[in-house]
Amino acid sequence: MTQATQKQDLLILGGGLVGMTLALAAASKGLSCHLVDRADPSALTAEGFDGRASAISTASWRLFRNIGLEQALEPHGCDIAAIAVVDQMKPGRLDFRPEPHEGTLGRMFANRQLRIALLEAVRSQPLISLHAPVDVFERTRGEFGVAARLSDGRTLEAVLMVAAEGRGSPAREEADLKMAKWDYSHRAIIGGLDHSKSHENVAWEIFYPDGPFALLPMLDGPEAQHRSALVWTVAEQDAAGVMKLGDRAFLAEVEKRMGNLLGELSLNSARSSYPLSFQHTARIVDDRLVLVGDSAHGMHPIAGQGLNLGLRDVGTLVEVLDEALRLGLDLGDAQVLKRYEEWRALDSFMVMGATDSLTRVFGVRGKSASAVRRFGMAGIQRLPMLKRFFMDEARGVSGKLPELLRS
Ligand SMILES: Cc1cc2nc3c(=O)[nH]c(=O)nc-3n(C[C@H](O)[C@H](O)[C@H](O)COP(=O)(O)OP(=O)(O)OC[C@H]3O[C@@H](n4cnc5c(N)ncnc54)[C@H](O)[C@@H]3O)c2cc1C
Repeated sequence: MTQATQKQDLLILGGGLVGMTLALAAASKGLSCHLVDRADPSALTAEGFDGRASAISTASWRLFRNIGLEQALEPHGCDIAAIAVVDQMKPGRLDFRPEPHEGTLGRMFANRQLRIALLEAVRSQPLISLHAPVDVFERTRGEFGVAARLSDGRTLEAVLMVAAEGRGSPAREEADLKMAKWDYSHRAIIGGLDHSKSHENVAWEIFYPDGPFALLPMLDGPEAQHRSALVWTVAEQDAAGVMKLGDRAFLAEVEKRMGNLLGELSLNSARSSYPLSFQHTARIVDDRLVLVGDSAHGMHPIAGQGLNLGLRDVGTLVEVLDEALRLGLDLGDAQVLKRYEEWRALDSFMVMGATDSLTRVFGVRGKSASAVRRFGMAGIQRLPMLKRFFMDEARGVSGKLPELLRS
């Protein structure tokens, strides 16, 4: 027997970092939603489920602050005071360090802390109906609304469907929204490091032809141990071997790539690995459907921009829907959705393109390629205007920002 529930403004499919943030941002403007995830929220927030850490840009932090997460998140963030870029630890480092009055380049958070804070806020927001864990086995989009039939027999109804289901979005596939997609044939191996020297709030991007190697500053551990998050990209064929290494052998390989930068190393978490691909959908809306986050765009993690881009989708969508509401328009109106698609097009294309180029430029092997790269980096180092452009991109403050991501 099917059972219909109250019709809401939004039916958000996927309660990951982007889906949960969207539900809260929409609620901050008075919009109600059904938020559906096939995974169990307690599994998603359990220790060891997602050991990654995310660089949260200045603009994304403003969004979290504007939807009431500042108190819950503030104690868990580690400032990124500077970013250092080097080619294989050779001389010729490129530094991005804002002036003290300009603030930081962002903050690092453990994904688990982000998930915990978001889930708690979702659970206490009356405008959000959370349905998880449950499978969606039928989605319908009609002239007057959308619906999802769930595996427990209920039917959820809303005005607009939002796909926040991550890279393999079934709603996107069903709508036949075509994607440009390629595989980098690499995996990102991640893990938490304790180290004897302070990171001094510097994020390191060390580029090797086999793949980039990043060290991201984290807050000190409970016994004041200095900590960083490691993201080491290795070729797909080497990944299984690297994952199988014992801790000592693994750390020896890590040390080969970063030298004595952070002193003595030990691991403070289990390692895990993620396949890397590029996927980009130019059309991110269809009849009563919009895509947000990785459902619309998935990229290489080297520039730490995937989630930030998804959070800019969130801010933009909420602003467009809020305006529609005030003008008395249907939230699923084609012109309203078109406005969202057009607003997101340039930012998304630029960030995706720049990240892809970065991985390719640093992936070229050989001494002369390395010399050309280091020559280019030395040039940028001497050009304050160009450095400012890159720093604004890292902070997520360039281009036309939606209100929720402004101060
Ligand atoms: C190693 C690594 C490091 C990264 N570092 C950074 C960083 O520093 N900064 C940054 O900005 N980005 C970073 N990213 C990218 C970032 O993690 C992603 O862009 C972000 O997590 C995407 O969130 P999402 O909610 O769109 O998708 P997901 O996290 O994939 O969430 C999708 C959700 O939808 C649910 N779901 C899926 N299918 C269905 C279905 N059919 N029905 C119901 N629910 C469904 C899933 O259970 C899941 O909860 C990194 C990525 C990697 C791999």
